[in-house]
Amino acid sequence: MTDRIVIVGGGPGGYEAAHVAAQLGAEVTVVDTDGVGGSAVLTDCVPSKTLIATSELMTDMATAQELGVNFRDHVGDAATSIVVDLARVNARVKQLAADQSADIASGLERDDVRVVTGRGRVGPGLTVVVDTGSGEETLEADAIMLATGAAPRTLPSAQPDGERILTWEQVYDLTEVPEKLIVVGSGVTGAEFASAYLSLGIDVTLVSSRDRVLPGEDADASAVLEEVLTRRGMNVLSKSRMQSVTREGDEVTVTLTDGRTVTGSHCILALGSVPNTADLGLEEAGVFTDEAGFIKVDRVSRTSARGIYAAGDCTGVLMLASVAAMQGRIAMWHYLGDAVAPLDLKKVSSNVFTSPEIATVGWSQNAVDSGEMAAEVVMLPLAGNARAKMQGVRDGFVKLFCRPGTGIVVGGVVVGPRASELIHPVSIAVAESLTADQLAQAFTVYPSMSGSIAEAARRLHRV
Ligand SMILES: Cc1cc2nc3c(=O)[nH]c(=O)nc-3n(C[C@H](O)[C@H](O)[C@H](O)COP(=O)(O)OP(=O)(O)OC[C@H]3O[C@@H](n4cnc5c(N)ncnc54)[C@H](O)[C@@H]3O)c2cc1C
Repeated sequence: MTDRIVIVGGGPGGYEAAHVAAQLGAEVTVVDTDGVGGSAVLTDCVPSKTLIATSELMTDMATAQELGVNFRDHVGDAATSIVVDLARVNARVKQLAADQSADIASGLERDDVRVVTGRGRVGPGLTVVVDTGSGEETLEADAIMLATGAAPRTLPSAQPDGERILTWEQVYDLTEVPEKLIVVGSGVTGAEFASAYLSLGIDVTLVSSRDRVLPGEDADASAVLEEVLTRRGMNVLSKSRMQSVTREGDEVTVTLTDGRTVTGSHCILALGSVPNTADLGLEEAGVFTDEAGFIKVDRVSRTSARGIYAAGDCTGVLMLASVAAMQGRIAMWHYLGDAVAPLDLKKVSSNVFTSPEIATVGWSQNAVDSGEMAAEVVMLPLAGNARAKMQGVRDGFVKLFCRPGTGIVVGGVVVGPRASELIHPVSIAVAESLTADQLAQAFTVYPSMSGSIAEAARRLHRV
């Protein structure tokens, strides 16, 4: 008998699971409110990285003069005479997101996956009840997958108005360049937007409640980033906790808990996410959540209720599109009896798309410093790399962690332009338990930034 799988949520957790389930012969239905692709494609990952593609170009232009490039008829630094057309950038962002969603929809159609537009909740037995707007449809299932994602957190004292006080989902409606932008929150999302808008030539103040930007990342990496952002003119307010955000006319005021105020023309709230798990019928179905509302899952994405799996941001395991997708696939491999290995977070590579980028994989410096993981560490500045010199790149480094004795690579950090691409050899080393010697012996192109990864690995050689 064909297994019937009903997936609630069409983001990467949901649509990747749908492909796997279809491939394994199941009859699959995806229920989504907004269009497949989820927040990842429509409001979060894809739009922000498309915006950042423009900001990268602007950042590259900053070194134009040093590399001998100028505009015809323009005396002085080319970088000072370029301006961004934000309306055009945002139109491109929205179009690209819509196209990507359409591509995903076509892929699901090719796999014979049925997509139902509406809001789903778990019903009695293994059913999903869909509110389609014009009525209700009940879908019977042999297994259910919940992948409903998360939404931007807001506070009663800091309410977005969609015009000048914005969540990260609302920034693409801006048609004019903000004169003075305040970003509240210095986690990954806050840092990415602050860095992107700074590169677009906007006056940016970053309000951070902690003592440094990116408190969850490698401390050496965030120190480099903070130094670069400050040097480029960003006003970074650390140890500054926001109490409220208010607007009067065209002016936005951020009031801090110590009474100081910061004013600007616009404010982006990057205060973290809350899971979309209310009104999903979880309690009645016996699906346990934690106190913040995230669905509790094991490493093969099972919830506490038999036949109900969950994946992605609604589980809060690690809020990345790549992890959501893998949790979704694992759930289906597990339920449909294919070979499956439990999720291993130590193999996840991730990237902060600031300028410079910060990419990490495996065990962290924190774990080494606290004694949780015994590892030798080497850190190599990119400034000594021949390719970096040619490209005028001065900021960034490569850091590798390997086990004493065996030399097995257990983690790494890359800070620099396109660090997201450079981390891959380190990810392979971590995933396959390669030694630093093995990583060092593979040829790298001369000159290349990846040469620094091999060089760092060589420095970990012990006789
Ligand atoms: C600004 C920003 C940038 C990011 N950039 C990156 C990045 O570069 N790389 C990366 O790996 N990650 C990135 N992330 C994280 C990434 O976007 C999420 O981890 C990812 O979207 C999680 O996927 P998901 O499938 O769990 O949920 P989502 O992508 O949120 O999809 C869930 C879907 O379910 C729908 N839904 C919710 N409730 C219901 C319901 N009851 N019935 C039907 N449908 C429902 C939602 O409307 C949504 O369409 C970023 C996040 C943010 C905020």
